[in-house]
Amino acid sequence: MAKKSAFVSEGGCVACGACENECPRDAVAVWRGCFAKINREKCIGCGLCARVCPANAISLVKREVEA
Ligand code: SF4
Ligand code: SF4
Repeated sequence: MAKKSAFVSEGGCVACGACENECPRDAVAVWRGCFAKINREKCIGCGLCARVCPANAISLVKREVEA
């Protein structure tokens, strides 16, 4: 599993859908038109979504070590 995954700051997200269009893994989708949600199982931490987000609402975070 990738060492990083995307994290959405829900308060900053304007639900534009740019991240959803960009993600090569279908790992992010706008939830009920409210804010983007990451599927951490699918996310490979590539950072494309963070790059296109006009609101700078996405950051890449280190995954916790999963037991
Ligand atoms: S970091 Fe990459 S794989 Fe993960 S949600 Fe963003 S675009 Fe998709
Ligand atoms: S690109 Fe940014 S503002 Fe647009 S839906 Fe994704 S997280 Fe929200």
